[in-house]
Amino acid sequence: MTDGPDDAAALGRRLLGALSAASDHPEAELRIAASIGISVFPGDQGTAEALLTNAELAMRRAKAEIRGSLRFFTSALHEAAVTKATLATALPAAMRERQIFLVYQPIVDLQTGTIVGCEALARWRHPTLGLLPPGQFIQIAEETGQIRDLGLYILDRAIGEFSAALPDGDDGVTLSVNLSFGQFAEEELVDVIRDELARTRFPATRLELELTESMLAQEPERAIEMTRAVSALGCKLAIDDFGTGYSSLAQLRRFQVDFLKIDRSFVIDIAGGDGPQGVVRAAIAMGHSLGLAIIAEGVETVEQAEFLRREGVELAQGYLFGKPMPIADLAEMHRRQAGRGDIAAPGKRPAPYPGSTKLH
Ligand code: C2E
Ligand code: CA
Ligand code: CA
Repeated sequence: MTDGPDDAAALGRRLLGALSAASDHPEAELRIAASIGISVFPGDQGTAEALLTNAELAMRRAKAEIRGSLRFFTSALHEAAVTKATLATALPAAMRERQIFLVYQPIVDLQTGTIVGCEALARWRHPTLGLLPPGQFIQIAEETGQIRDLGLYILDRAIGEFSAALPDGDDGVTLSVNLSFGQFAEEELVDVIRDELARTRFPATRLELELTESMLAQEPERAIEMTRAVSALGCKLAIDDFGTGYSSLAQLRRFQVDFLKIDRSFVIDIAGGDGPQGVVRAAIAMGHSLGLAIIAEGVETVEQAEFLRREGVELAQGYLFGKPMPIADLAEMHRRQAGRGDIAAPGKRPAPYPGSTKLH
């Protein structure tokens, strides 16, 4: 019998300890993990049912954060669950009423600083909660079976806006769209993309799709098949958040991809000297050895850009070049750059980015 929160936690820790000891099997490596959620009477809720619901909520949070840990129920957990349910219910109307919209972040050539593409990033302007970042609703759409609809809404809207603002030309600016795990796992994904391209008459070669390294690593066989099918359509593929997903070189070799996006966390570390820079160099070398072009994410300083350029990184994206913006602004930025390119005297290349003039 336990009396209070401390006793419950002590019991929980004993249980976790006993379970991990049980995994010491002499012949096979077995791993048993448990996550524990605790709700306390009478503090949390009065009824047995509410206590169980709250304990389950705490358990799910423990599982999501650190497997094999324990967590107490808090009112913040309850509020988060309520917000989640509210957003999940509001999602269909949010798409219908176009509260969910896209901003576009420039992707530039590191040698010239000119825009070669852009990445569509979703936002939700919620009538009462304000502007919500994608982290607050993409996952909810996944968990409530709405990701297929949301994914198609985003793809369709991105293609529509991009083609209107940057009509077909020979400038080769591309559109990148993120795919989430739920879309990636969907059998019909390739058909959905093919149909969308046919319906909109959008050239496949202008579309790039981003899949995170962890998605690819999670289901490598599916990833091999899917990346091949998507590139057969003519679209390009990028491995997003590279460096966070633990895929092996042997595995990467089998995916049919074109770009490797080095995660922002590694770019931030560039200022940290030789050690962290070595990690970035290794990622670049790995990408290049596979014949992929590298896109560095989250480039905020001239020092980072210069380092990446010296190391042979082809493309970059980050606040230094432009924050995510409405498509009209991106198109305007592109037109200004194209104009500037025309008037630049031969042999006198414009500065690739603010602060880099001294290098030219
Ligand atoms: P991501 O694909 O890695 O997108 C890059 C994120 O880094 C974006 O955050 C962008 O605003 C931010 N960022 C870019 N440059 C800089 C920089 O220089 N400094 C800093 N501090 N941040 C920078 P955002 O828009 O909040 O998106 C977060 C994530 O949500 C994205 O990460 C992506 O995984 C997901 N996401 C966004 N839009 C969509 C979408 O339409 N579909 C899906 N499935 N996921 C999306
Ligand atoms: Ca991305
Ligand atoms: Ca990324």
